[in-house]
Amino acid sequence: MRIYPKKKPNYIFISGGVLSGLGKGITTASIGLILKSKGFKVTAIKIDPYINFDAGTLRPTEHGEVWVTEDGGEIDQDLGHYERFLGEKLSKNHNITTGQVYYAVITRERAGNYLGKTVQPIPHITDEIKRRITTLVEKEGVEFVLIEIGGTIGDYENVLFLEAARQMKYEGRRVLFVHVSYLPVLGSTGEMKTKPTQHSVKALQGLGIQPDFIICRSEQELDAPRREKVALFCSVKSEDIIANPDVKNIYEIPLKLDEQKIGDKILNKLALKAKKSDLSDWKKFVEKMNNATKEVKIGIVGKYFDVGKYKLRDSYISVIEAIKHAAGANDVHPKMMWIDAKDLEKKSKLKILNEVDGIIVPGGFGSEGVEGKILAIKYARVNEIPFLGLCFGFQLAVVEYARNVCGLEDANTTEVDSGTKIPVIDFLPWQKELIKQSKYGATMRLGAQVIRIKKNTLAWKLYGNDRVVERFRHRYEINPKYINEFETHGFIFSGESEKEEGIMQIGELPEYKHKFFIGTQAHPEFTSRPLKPNPLFNGFIRASSR
Ligand code: GLN
Repeated sequence: MRIYPKKKPNYIFISGGVLSGLGKGITTASIGLILKSKGFKVTAIKIDPYINFDAGTLRPTEHGEVWVTEDGGEIDQDLGHYERFLGEKLSKNHNITTGQVYYAVITRERAGNYLGKTVQPIPHITDEIKRRITTLVEKEGVEFVLIEIGGTIGDYENVLFLEAARQMKYEGRRVLFVHVSYLPVLGSTGEMKTKPTQHSVKALQGLGIQPDFIICRSEQELDAPRREKVALFCSVKSEDIIANPDVKNIYEIPLKLDEQKIGDKILNKLALKAKKSDLSDWKKFVEKMNNATKEVKIGIVGKYFDVGKYKLRDSYISVIEAIKHAAGANDVHPKMMWIDAKDLEKKSKLKILNEVDGIIVPGGFGSEGVEGKILAIKYARVNEIPFLGLCFGFQLAVVEYARNVCGLEDANTTEVDSGTKIPVIDFLPWQKELIKQSKYGATMRLGAQVIRIKKNTLAWKLYGNDRVVERFRHRYEINPKYINEFETHGFIFSGESEKEEGIMQIGELPEYKHKFFIGTQAHPEFTSRPLKPNPLFNGFIRASSR
């Protein structure tokens, strides 16, 4: 069904300058939130210039977390920021990659659709990019679409996307350009420098694009002389240079941008009028977060941290945000401790778990660090430390219980030991065939599924509902053959798939055994929103702060 908007849609392209990792995704999401709060129907698209069809086959340390949409898309983590800030559910079509665009054009070429013609980057690739953006916008009937172009100006790989954006404006569509750039402060002189930004804007202008706004990311506040300099050299009015210095809490960014009236300035340029932005609920949430003084220490036992000499948390970004949302709601300040599962395998290191108030074992793949995670889970179970297991973390909690409570010493997941005699976690039956045929792309059990919650369990108390929807991404499951064995030993399966009977989705220990021990096959971090924390995270943080 096509719902055409009352007025013509407005396209805002967001590009990046000087360096990557500036938080373009958060900036995009923040502008979206401001426009939404003015009463517009807003959405966002992320363009990733890589050849991969989607992010599903990318390693987390390479790309960061894979965000999962309700319709089962495995896509860029920026979509997570969009969904969290906008409070809208986005489909997988909101992530466009070079791979998808070329695949579509080459498929058409093979089908003879361009017979007789030379198929070229311009116009065929750029047309396909424009087609993807405009059809999505028409289908959803939105008034504003923010399109974040991944990478940095000067990268070869995003040139055709920028060209498509330029053409959209040239063709008379309602288009604005926002350039997010960086102003470094030199360590030796302490001076903020504008030259890299000037260069990146020159490069953008060289592609035929004049930015309407420049958002200046920096460690320190932008001062008047630097603002004037950027304005003069980049031909952007000084009031359209927006400061965006580092903040402690990313949820402050929409408020900072709103203070500088970016929403009204955007509307002015497009000759639109709307009510004042209303971010009062958002502001309350930010204040609650910032004012919390009581600290709660959460240990996250994972393995996707190290990239060379640097530790990157991007692999677990939604888990981090879900913790923050729940902490805000419980008036506590979360301190996250990153615990490398591989380290825990040296038993002397287990002591570190003494310091935490709650333990999360997040999603993961493969055998590395698994024994360390199992030790952490045992530690949480035996010492009654609140525990939340997410997907792989849930599966390993089941392995731990099998080994140490049910007396099945050799229990394992076939993901780690394909020949294990006691496969308490095994392939979902239909997954085996796919893997045999090396079909890895977009073939996991993906997207939203309904979970039926068992009455009078912890899960039921937390969700307050007997039917809930969460998002999934996995190939393995609790082996149905062992469910009885677990239940006899006091483990409770409190959530089961509604569609596929026998697939266990949530498991827990009864209250008399543990104050908070729960795991889920789902990724509840994907449904947590700032103003609406996910119930499992909420309960976990509440238990951890007691
Ligand atoms: N590796 C496990 C599986 O495929 C868990 C996946 C995950 O944690 N997302 O089932």
